[in-house]
Amino acid sequence: MKYKELVNVYEALSQTTKKLEKAMILADFFRDIDSKNIGKVVLMSLGLVYPKNSEEEQGIGDKTLMKAISQTYGVPISKVEDRVRELGDIGQVTENLYKEKTQQTFFSKELTVEFVFNSIRKIANISGSKSQPRKIAIISELLSSASELEAKYIPKTILEELRLGVGEAIVRDAISNAFEIDKEVTERAYALTNDIGLVAEFAKEKGEKGLKELNLVPGRPVKPMLAQLSPGVDISVKTMGNVICETKYDGIRIQIHKKGDEIKFFTRRLENVTQAIPEMMEPVKNGLPDENFIVEGEIIATRDGKPISFQNILQRVRRKYNIDKAIKNVPLTLYLFDVLYYKTSLIDKPLKERRKILEQILKPGNKVNLSDKIDVNMDNIDEAKKLFEDSIAKGHEGIMIKDPNEPYIPGLRGKKMLKFKAEPETLDVVVIGGTYGLGRRSKFVGSYLVALKGEDDELKSVVHVATGLDDETLEQLTKLMEKYKKYDKGTKIFVEPKIILEIAYSEIVKSPEYEAGYSLRFPVVKRIRNDKGIDDINTVESLKSMFKG
Ligand code: AMP
Repeated sequence: MKYKELVNVYEALSQTTKKLEKAMILADFFRDIDSKNIGKVVLMSLGLVYPKNSEEEQGIGDKTLMKAISQTYGVPISKVEDRVRELGDIGQVTENLYKEKTQQTFFSKELTVEFVFNSIRKIANISGSKSQPRKIAIISELLSSASELEAKYIPKTILEELRLGVGEAIVRDAISNAFEIDKEVTERAYALTNDIGLVAEFAKEKGEKGLKELNLVPGRPVKPMLAQLSPGVDISVKTMGNVICETKYDGIRIQIHKKGDEIKFFTRRLENVTQAIPEMMEPVKNGLPDENFIVEGEIIATRDGKPISFQNILQRVRRKYNIDKAIKNVPLTLYLFDVLYYKTSLIDKPLKERRKILEQILKPGNKVNLSDKIDVNMDNIDEAKKLFEDSIAKGHEGIMIKDPNEPYIPGLRGKKMLKFKAEPETLDVVVIGGTYGLGRRSKFVGSYLVALKGEDDELKSVVHVATGLDDETLEQLTKLMEKYKKYDKGTKIFVEPKIILEIAYSEIVKSPEYEAGYSLRFPVVKRIRNDKGIDDINTVESLKSMFKG
């Protein structure tokens, strides 16, 4: 299949802002693609060459890409950098340079989707010394075979930055539409596999019935079921009737998979962190049976039995070196609260049955425990309040209130699993820019422009936040800003939307100044949320309904 065809669809997508139209354009396109290419094309419509669940990454930095562009078009790198600063979009820069080029490139071959896809994967797999020239050679080969429009989209795909306003939801709808599949079936298949290409292949080849057969597989991480805020213990228990209440631990969510002899630990963003927490391997092996399983829990950092700062645990699971020292300094404890698979998939069973199975298969030990849990209804609601008070007294975060009859629905943030916390609610936002400070702080980015997710997954600025940051966090954040820098202007810096912050605030207000239409009074950074990604940030819609509430 010619790459040109895909690029024409990109152009059509860029001509409309309407979600429905985008989904229709994609559905019409997907319908006629052969089985060999459908998986690749669907991934590439999201600007990816690896599915989200993959441990592979599109590994290339802006600098290398700009160098490749400068070499291909025979212009100095400074010119490429200036243009990027000016236009803010590397695709547009490449397109312009293509138009201006004087030397005639010969088209060695017409690009195919397969060739572009495989080449970008190849770039990701090159590592070690002398890797940069090899990466550049591959990009140059692609760019010198490309037409003007193709040249625009190749760098955008390499950086995973198509910016077509096409998110997973639109692609899922397009698959449903193209192959006449119920939307819920497509959604479920995706949440279970996190591989949109695989879902498309199944949809095309086997239809709705085949998609329904896609199921949990130990070893392949699943999107976790998420919690909503409880408006209050009484009202939540009254609405649900019978509930399960558990301590809410303040750590990071961990999904543990056992497949054969192999045990893997994944975060809620489905990152494999097994190598960073080797000391958990034996306790998990000893505490859980030999059969294949998937269990879920919260891992917290403790000292003398008391939880210690959340940031400690984040740094701990992302650590690649000096792990032995970290094991001593930041001891971990795991509290399991769910089982998704044991010999077979359990996600369709109600929570009370899953919990029972978990209690049967786990031999609790020092490092691996069960979450504290009680059964509550209106008659013994005081026990829930007591659990909440105990939780806070022990340094935890609050309680979870769960419907015992609810199946496990991957990726869902529904009304059947609630959280009730002592602290006021916070928002998860993504940093899109910032301003360097003055005087002593001129080396640091002191103020951060943050955004929420709007319609079509577009980011909408909501507030500048500059408080709540100690020197150490400022330094850490500034380094991240420089790493993800897109361009800068005077003291302002604009970055890729990669850094997630949790912020507290005193009030939501209407504001024409920010793209969200709303803003926050007295915003304070609570912490950097390395465990969360762009998919986890709050939406303008949710802010709006909180404002109205
Ligand atoms: P939040 O991150 O504020 O949306 O709160 C939901 C998170 O609380 C879950 O994703 C888990 O990481 C965490 N959590 C802590 N304790 C529990 C528990 N007992 N049951 C479920 N989730 C828990």
